[in-house]
Amino acid sequence: MLTTVEQLKDLKGKKVLVRVDFNVPQKNGVIRDDNRIRAALPTINYLVAQGAKVVLMSHLGKIKHKEAPEVVEAQKAANNMAPIAARLGEIVAPVKVSFCAETRGETLKAAVNALNEGEILVVQNTRYEKGEEKNDEALSAEWASLVDAFVMDAFGSAHRAHASTVGVPSILKAEGKQVAEGYLMIKEVDNLTRCVEVKAEDRPYVAILGGFKVSDKIKVIETLLAKCDKIIIGGAMAYTFKKALGQEIGTSPCELDQLDYAKKCYASGKILLPVDSVVAQHFDPAERAEGEIKVVEQIPEGYEGLDIGPKTRELYTNEILKAHMIFWNGPMGVFEQEDFQAGTIAVCEAIAKIEGKAFTVCGGGDSASAVKQFGYKSKFSHVSTGGGASLEMIENDGHLPGVDVLR
Ligand code: AMP
Repeated sequence: MLTTVEQLKDLKGKKVLVRVDFNVPQKNGVIRDDNRIRAALPTINYLVAQGAKVVLMSHLGKIKHKEAPEVVEAQKAANNMAPIAARLGEIVAPVKVSFCAETRGETLKAAVNALNEGEILVVQNTRYEKGEEKNDEALSAEWASLVDAFVMDAFGSAHRAHASTVGVPSILKAEGKQVAEGYLMIKEVDNLTRCVEVKAEDRPYVAILGGFKVSDKIKVIETLLAKCDKIIIGGAMAYTFKKALGQEIGTSPCELDQLDYAKKCYASGKILLPVDSVVAQHFDPAERAEGEIKVVEQIPEGYEGLDIGPKTRELYTNEILKAHMIFWNGPMGVFEQEDFQAGTIAVCEAIAKIEGKAFTVCGGGDSASAVKQFGYKSKFSHVSTGGGASLEMIENDGHLPGVDVLR
């Protein structure tokens, strides 16, 4: 069982550490999209209303501690949490938000202890600490010692066993202190759990997998084969399957070391592959494809498959329309370019048609970007905020380190 933030007792005056996902797209302190900050508001506002002293921690960007000191310093400067704290302050005003530029030591301790009831402290980027990604014990213990309770609300980081996601709650739990999941986590965990604990009414259950790499999604295919009635394959990974079945794929991307695996999965009889493709020559991901773009059933030499074709769109649409539950991860083609968007849009349209009749989940990452870009977000039962986390949750049958530690 998971404790929810609403089940936490006696919050008034208590110091509560909330692991949020404030890893927003930003450059030089200019935030391009503050959705992730807003997504954490239900939990933050609840704790503030209860009179808790709210300490927020998040990672931001990447910091490679193995690089030369000046490189690390530059990465730290580029991933400073201060502008994010300022934005949160604007959003929650008049609630007081302060910022601590340190991740450890007396300054941090003093900043936490200076909080009044209903105030918020944003701590500097957790990845400033080398020990964060290593789930370092001393670091976890120091952070845990600052607070009375812990709330996990960073679903996008729940597949990582880091100090701020797993180390701190394990220590607090061992000390008999309260740990809980926040509102964003509750929504994510509930919706994705439904995709792994399949009920009779959710059948037919259709999974849609696309994107670039088969190897990234290997374990998920195996888990989904055991749970789903059909798996629709699109994107670049379709060509590894086609190659495994002895079909011509031209210069399409293919993972030769996965052919046996693809063949084995295909033998399940549950996998649907494209029957036609939109192909081009000289494809460059950074620019528009050059030369002739055409629809083919057999990919000619020198051509690359970059989207599913119209017959496949129809075939996949028909399958989606029959489904009572959908889990989708990975676009059907290179949706970033207009010439290769139709397959991904067709999947969005088919899912929009079963709105209200089926339970439909988009598993984050690039497919979530596509769903938002094409304006279909509201048509889904759930669009996950964590690409990697949602895939791992399916792969591991509903388990994630950052969730299990709260159980
Ligand atoms: P992933 O991160 O594995 O979900 O892959 C997403 C990326 O795969 C997107 O940037 C797409 O442009 C790309 N992609 C999808 N289909 C293809 C394809 N047929 N050829 C090359 N790239 C593709």
